[in-house]
Order: sequence, then structure tokens, then C-alpha cells
Amino acid sequence: MNTSAHKIVIVGGGNAGLSVASQLLRKNKNLKISIVDPATKHYYQPAWTLVGAGVYDIRKTEKNQADYIPKGAEWVKDSVVGFLPESNKVLLAGGRELLYDGLVVCPGIKLDWEKIKGLKENLGKNNISCNYDFHSAPYTWQMIKNMKSGTAVFTNPGTPIKCAGAPHKIMYLACDYWRKQGVLKNIKVVYISGMAAIFGVKEYAVTLTEIIKKHNIDIRFGCNTVEIDGNNKTVYYDETDADGKLTRKEIKFDICHSVPPQSAPDFIKNSPLADPNNPFRYVEINKSTMQHSRYPNIFALGDCTNAPCSKTGAAIRKQAPVVVANLLSVLDQKKLEGEYTGYSACPIPTQYGKLMLAEFDYTNTPTMSFPIDQTKPSWMMWILKTKILPWLYWNKILTGKA
Ligand SMILES: Cc1cc2nc3c(=O)[nH]c(=O)nc-3n(C[C@H](O)[C@H](O)[C@H](O)COP(=O)(O)OP(=O)(O)OC[C@H]3O[C@@H](n4cnc5c(N)ncnc54)[C@H](O)[C@@H]3O)c2cc1C
Repeated sequence: MNTSAHKIVIVGGGNAGLSVASQLLRKNKNLKISIVDPATKHYYQPAWTLVGAGVYDIRKTEKNQADYIPKGAEWVKDSVVGFLPESNKVLLAGGRELLYDGLVVCPGIKLDWEKIKGLKENLGKNNISCNYDFHSAPYTWQMIKNMKSGTAVFTNPGTPIKCAGAPHKIMYLACDYWRKQGVLKNIKVVYISGMAAIFGVKEYAVTLTEIIKKHNIDIRFGCNTVEIDGNNKTVYYDETDADGKLTRKEIKFDICHSVPPQSAPDFIKNSPLADPNNPFRYVEINKSTMQHSRYPNIFALGDCTNAPCSKTGAAIRKQAPVVVANLLSVLDQKKLEGEYTGYSACPIPTQYGKLMLAEFDYTNTPTMSFPIDQTKPSWMMWILKTKILPWLYWNKILTGKA
């Protein structure tokens, strides 16, 4: 078989979709690749934390999708609404069907705003914000800048989310800003989290725990935010005790940064590609090969999969070459050799000018890329996050060169 005759459909032209399309075309420019994505804008989401902290221009995080679709790929400006994996077809909202030899599924993750009553309606007003929303991230900075005293509440859901560090990264930057302004002593900072720990890898968690102590942050684990009342400035959350009993609690706030629970996009949840045993109905794949567990010519990567890794762009950088190699092997009827070991990275700014680059794999073991102790926040890593990574993203990652 000759790969040049093959037709590959990619569902979603975000970080994962464009990386895979570019890498495939760099391997073989004769492949027939269709990228299905209705969005005309492409976002560099990792910088939204920096926007919320007032050190990055939101306009630099949004670019025209048309300028990043790789040459040689077809852009189908439509939404996928269903899959017919038995007949190798995807269904589009516009009514068309696309036939494929190989399929790559990467439409990202769904933000379940409605799971926190009042959050969506209050975004960007009543001192309520969320850096996961392009339109609200600049408002986070307005809230932080104007805060002089009172209670600042930061919430984190109990579900897996993209960039698990983002709900608390903004809290460390806010505390540092208030410390420098001399007002931190007048501000009570509360972190309400559905998780049981601040970070899954203990070596990095130690550093964060020191910062939490230093800023006197009140941490409440095992607490799921269920409602935010914008008029009465109150967060309601369910606290789970040791016996699993839920108690409804509330806290008044002056500002609140809240991140919603997340799950697979609905058209994935309701499709035969979903993992029936996963409560969030992500695409069911083999976590090493990235191949669908039941359909050999389907692969998935990025935020939409059930792989138990941290959902980040950093993970995609290691997943994309594995998907490319293994998909081409399937099409050429060769053995799969690409293996993803769960690598992910979470760049956590601990103060303005300092950042801890937490890198780890499926075993939650640190996998440090640099010859320094990465559990110690450094200026070099801050420069990596604020200057180098955004440039790498637009110029090298999306073009399949890194
Ligand atoms: C606040 C914040 C901070 C973050 N910080 C970091 C960080 O510091 N480091 C890091 O590595 N990662 C970070 N991330 C995570 C990173 O942005 C994501 O992991 C990454 O963008 C996921 O890529 P993806 O391709 O899976 O999804 P996306 O990039 O979200 O792209 C999904 C694409 O699919 C399209 N799509 C959706 N539905 C359909 C459909 N039905 N049909 C066709 N197309 C569809 C969408 O239009 C979109 O273009 C952060 C994210 C946020 C929100």
C-alpha cells in the first residue's frame, strides 16, 4: 500500500489538529488531509493566565485560523455531528458525509458552565471571572488590580480539566501582586477545590504548599462549587466529609475566579467513539498508542481522550508524533511503534518573574528536561512561558516543526 493515496480526516483544528496535520504533510505531502473545524479564529489558550495577571495582551492570543491551516490540507468549515466508524464516515452539521481511510479526533474539551449555577451569566461582571474564557480573562486582571481588601475566592472543579494548574496559577500571581501593593494583609484568600491535593506530583506539590503557607491561603479540598450568586456575592459549595457525606456551605466574596467542571464535547459523548466506562465520556483510546480501542483506523489526542494524562498543549507535543507514526503504520499495514508515556507539563508561575515548570508522566514521576532543579521556581522558566513558548506555538508547533 502507498500512503499517498490515503484520505485522512481530522476533527478539530486546534492545537492537536493543526500539529498532526502539519506533521503528516511534512512526512508525505501527497496525503489527502481534510481538517474539519467551524471556528474562524485560533486561540493560544495557555497565555490566558498571563492575560488575567495583566502581563499579556489578549489580542495576541487570537489569530485567523485561515493563516494556520497547513498548505496542502483542505479546511472544511463545518462541525462534525456524528461518526459512522463501521463505514468510515463522519457526519457534518451541513448534511455532508466525509469518507476517510484514517481518522484523527481532537475537538478539545467542553466547559460545563451550567454545572455551576450563575457562573456563565455573571462572567465578566459582579467581580466574577474565569481565565478559561477569552472574553473574561482581561476582566480577571481588572478584579485583581482593583482589589484592596476583602475576600478573594478561587475555585477549582473536581473533574479532570484542561491545564489543571490554571485555577491556582492565577491565585499565586494575584497574591504576589497584592503583596507588592502592600494590601495582601487586608485580603483573605480562599481556594475551594474539588480535588484532594494541590498537585498530583509530590515533588512539585511541596513547592506550592510553601507558597500557600507564605501567603496564608485558606485551602478547602474536597469541596465542589455548585452556585455563584452574583448579586449577593456568595459562592455555594458542597463539602464531602470523611464518611462521604455532603454538606452545603457558603462563603461571601469580594472577587471570585471560578473554573467550571469539564467533559467531552456532546457529539463525542453521544457517539460510538466514547468510552462507556468513563464518567466524562472521553474518546476511548489505548493510552500508549493513541489508537481507538475498537476502531483501528481511528486515533485521538489532546483534551478529548480518556488517556489518564494531564490535558495540556505540552502533552499534545508528545502525543502528535505518536499519532502520526501509528496512523501511517495502520494505513501501510505495519506494526505500531509509536508510544506515548503520558508526558505532560504544567508551567506554574509562582510570582511575577518566577515560574516552576512541572514536567511528569503517567507514573506521576518528574521528567525534567532542563539540567536544573525544576521544583525551584526560576526566572528562566518565566521567560520560557511568557516569551519563548508563545513564539514556538505559532511558528513551530502548529507548523509541525516542533
Ligand atoms: C486558561 C488556560 C491555561 C492553559 N495553560 C496551559 C499551559 O500553561 N500549558 C499547556 O501546555 N497547556 C495549557 N492549557 C491547555 C491547552 O490550551 C489545551 O490542552 C490545548 O489547547 C488542547 O488542544 P486541543 O487541540 O485538544 O483542543 P483545542 O485547542 O481547544 O481545539 C479544539 C478545536 O476543535 C474544534 N471543534 C470543537 N467542536 C468541533 C466539532 N464538532 N467539529 C469540528 N471541530 C470542532 C474547535 O473549534 C477548536 O478549534 C491551558 C488552557 C487554558 C484554558
